Amino acid sequence: MKSYDLVVIGGGPGGYVAAIRAAQLGMSVACVEGRGAIGGTCLNVGCIPSKALLTSSAKFAELSQMAAHGIGVESATLDLAAMMGRKDKIVGDLTKGIAYLFKKNGVDLIEGWGSIPEPGVVKVSGSDGNTLLSAANTLIATGSEPASLPGIDIDETDILSSTGALALAQVPQHLVVIGAGVIGLELGQVWSRLGAKVTVVEYLDRILPGNDGEIAKLAQRALTKRGLKFQLGRKLTGIERGADGLKLSLERVGKDSTETLEADKVLVAIGRRPVTRGLGLDALGVATNSRGFIEVNDAFMTSVQGVYAIGDCTPGPMLAHKAEEDGVACAEMLAGKAGHVEYNTVPGVVYTDPEVASLGATEEVLKEAGTDYITGKFNFMANSRARSSGETDGAVKVLAAPDGTILGAHICGAHGGDLIAELVLAMTKGVSVEEVARTCHAHPALGEAVKEACLDALGRAIHA
Ligand SMILES: Cc1cc2nc3c(=O)[nH]c(=O)nc-3n(C[C@H](O)[C@H](O)[C@H](O)COP(=O)(O)OP(=O)(O)OC[C@H]3O[C@@H](n4cnc5c(N)ncnc54)[C@H](O)[C@@H]3O)c2cc1C
Repeated sequence: MKSYDLVVIGGGPGGYVAAIRAAQLGMSVACVEGRGAIGGTCLNVGCIPSKALLTSSAKFAELSQMAAHGIGVESATLDLAAMMGRKDKIVGDLTKGIAYLFKKNGVDLIEGWGSIPEPGVVKVSGSDGNTLLSAANTLIATGSEPASLPGIDIDETDILSSTGALALAQVPQHLVVIGAGVIGLELGQVWSRLGAKVTVVEYLDRILPGNDGEIAKLAQRALTKRGLKFQLGRKLTGIERGADGLKLSLERVGKDSTETLEADKVLVAIGRRPVTRGLGLDALGVATNSRGFIEVNDAFMTSVQGVYAIGDCTPGPMLAHKAEEDGVACAEMLAGKAGHVEYNTVPGVVYTDPEVASLGATEEVLKEAGTDYITGKFNFMANSRARSSGETDGAVKVLAAPDGTILGAHICGAHGGDLIAELVLAMTKGVSVEEVARTCHAHPALGEAVKEACLDALGRAIHA
């Protein structure tokens, strides 16, 4: 039995980053991955393929808006197979990149499904039988998978999860997306830009639950302008398959009425659930919460000594960069260093056009908690760079304590996912709205909207 200081189960952004960091710190490390490729959900069926398709579809959609720039374009054609081929190549190249990093850092990649028959032992079931590894420490980084609704059978042909929606061979005529969260909106916009009619059905009376309500409204308005249709306050109760496609039954929430909706494809994007099956957690005594997430303490340790867990299979935001931060902190603590993750300042980004970026508290959360706050807002319409590029939808909003300490920031707008980084650093380092506002920002730049929102919180915006 080969012995390691650390055996990581799962090669997603949590697991592979933890494995590399632990190896950098001098540990002997193996990473066990069952799916036949490293990179996890993020690289194979998540962040990267979705962003590749968002970029390609944005370029296609942009061609129809060139007239405003005085550019005539003959009608554009779509080679969907080539677009998918580009996406697959990006995924393949990045996967190979991680394999290279494992070699460079001396991490052993062990292909197969891992389980923990007893503390200190990991069993790997691979294509050529079972292997036992001895592990001084075991780290579970087995991630998550799409959740479904009772009675809805995801076949990845007509009724899709995000995985199926990233690999369609044809543009649907009418795609109905169930769930107005990040994944539903991103993939809905991909297919809308490529020519599908897209209707987003959401149980709540708003999109992007959990995001700041005012910013989510701006996003809904902008996405509607770009072609997405929204049916809010509706509960999916069933999908019937017929010769002509799919018939969805919807219940109006809080009203005594039902509706039907016809579609050729349905994307179920109602959230994700942790993956822990087959690990042997019950027999081992590893505690999970009522939703199946593995419970961990501040040092990522589960209820069993020597067994740790990070990333999507633990409570907290299900985001690749959060999983990576967990992985680094966990490896550093195992090496006797002071690993730490500042969960209050983990940003979340929706990569639609416009992008929606969020950080820290929303206005709703502050109100509900009775916290005193000041707020500043600046519309991109008043930003000269946004006017030059024709990307004027949306706004930057900051929320701060009366003394200027940043409590939250929310952006709807072009490049919002990049613009939020300044505010993440400010909030993490305790930099106030006054200090951001007094920092020189290049002109003309979208970042000036961040500065102006901070000035607005102090009652002294210049351009509004
Ligand atoms: C369509 C889509 C778009 C997304 N876009 C973004 C985005 O833009 N930004 C962002 O931050 N996040 C995004 N996410 C979320 C992100 O992908 C996840 O938060 C992230 O991948 C979690 O990392 P992880 O390492 O915890 O788990 P995962 O990435 O899920 O990796 C877990 C790995 O463990 C393996 N595994 C499971 N069980 C076993 C076992 N028993 N033995 C061996 N291997 C096992 C799995 O095969 C998998 O490869 C997106 C997700 C989806 C679905």
